Amino acid sequence: MRKLRTQLSLGFALIVMVTVALVSLAVNLCINRQFEVYAEERQKDFADGLANGLSDQYDAGNGEWNLDYIHGFGMVALNDGYILKVYDRAGEVIWDAQNHDMTLCHQIMSDISLRMQRERPDLKGDFVSYRYALQQGGTLIGYVDISYYSPYYLNETDFHFLDSLNHILLLVGAVSLIGAIFAGLILAKRISDPIAKTMDITKEISEGNYSIRFEARVKTQELNELTQAVNHMAGALEEQENLRRRLTTDVAHELRTPLANISSHLEAMMEGVWEPTSDRLQLLFDEVKRITAIVAELEQLRQVESENLKLDKEPVNLLELAGTVCSSFEQELAGKQLTCRIEGEAVRIPGDKNKLHQVIFNLLSNAVKYSSPGGEIKISVHERGENAIVTVEDQGIGIPQKDLPLIFQRFYRADASRSRKTGGAGIGLTIVEAIVRAHNGTVSVESEEGKGSCFQIALPHQTAENLTDVP
Ligand code: ADP
Repeated sequence: MRKLRTQLSLGFALIVMVTVALVSLAVNLCINRQFEVYAEERQKDFADGLANGLSDQYDAGNGEWNLDYIHGFGMVALNDGYILKVYDRAGEVIWDAQNHDMTLCHQIMSDISLRMQRERPDLKGDFVSYRYALQQGGTLIGYVDISYYSPYYLNETDFHFLDSLNHILLLVGAVSLIGAIFAGLILAKRISDPIAKTMDITKEISEGNYSIRFEARVKTQELNELTQAVNHMAGALEEQENLRRRLTTDVAHELRTPLANISSHLEAMMEGVWEPTSDRLQLLFDEVKRITAIVAELEQLRQVESENLKLDKEPVNLLELAGTVCSSFEQELAGKQLTCRIEGEAVRIPGDKNKLHQVIFNLLSNAVKYSSPGGEIKISVHERGENAIVTVEDQGIGIPQKDLPLIFQRFYRADASRSRKTGGAGIGLTIVEAIVRAHNGTVSVESEEGKGSCFQIALPHQTAENLTDVP
């Protein structure tokens, strides 16, 4: 398996290589084609120029040709690859390059042919003769046959120019390729570094180091989101781990006190130090009840937090239910000189009676636990739109603002030491929320420290699902 960085660098280099090669090829083809067109035009222009130049060498006055000039002309043209044969008006040959220097003519023709066949084998060109009429003031004075390599030919300088151009293209290609490889390496490093770091961090997390975080800021948006997500996950896991630890400590702590009491009492009774009076047995029984309650709470939590909380639905009169719950707190209320007032309408909703009983029970139990003696607790039930609203309001110690968003979490206690005294393990509200959510409802809280708290649950009155469930 190849490393991401290697793959990215190679991919980048390959793309640039193909691009540079294609661009070079296209430029090369284009330039060559243009150059051929230019060479063809150049040859025609040159031949036109020769014909015009020759026309000037005729003296109409005495009807004679300037043969010295024509000879000079013809030799210059021959050296450039143009073979002339000049005739007068009557068709008599005045000057012929072949007659004049046949060897040179053949040598130049074969030089050009060989060079073109070597450099442009596909062109299949040859020397072709073109006839031009020589005129002076519109009067015909003669002809010239000009032979040159057609469709075009390139001289040494032309080939040299094309070669230099190709070299420049090659150089540009090589430089771009090297640049691309470097750019690719830098880019690949930018992408692969955060991924490699994220991998290390997730590995650390999987080994239990939840406090680790990705500190550096990443410039690529998606990678930055990835690192943030990993940080978020680490945070959530750390929180869960803390909760788990706290649960172990709390459960151990909660169980230790009653167990110590039971064991010391039993020991004293077994050794005959204490008589097993009914008071003492009652005390032992209370401790066992405390342990049983904690275990039951844990068991309940497991149930409500299981994936599919099953609801046994029936029409439930919430006002009546609040009354039943309230009467089960008679003793506790009286013990703290608290009054519990119930008000509102007899709202009926389709729901699981036992579980809704649990909801109001937990809220009332908290209200009692966290109320100062002599206070009042108010439970109200009424309808608002599609929902049945139940509120449990107390005048107790209240909840600090910073704790409000957290109190529904498992094992969260606003003040651990304070709650321990009151016997809570931080599970009651988690159960409330799970049950209310299973009824498609919501739970919210408003509280002010020192003044009291008000918990409100909203349960949908009738949903499509409820309508089918309840007759
Ligand atoms: P506990 O069993 O500790 O009461 P809960 O889940 O019922 O656990 O509540 C979580 C925490 O929320 C409590 O520890 C307490 O700090 C706070 N809390 C809940 N209800 C009240 C209330 N009525 N008044 C003040 N604080 C409350």
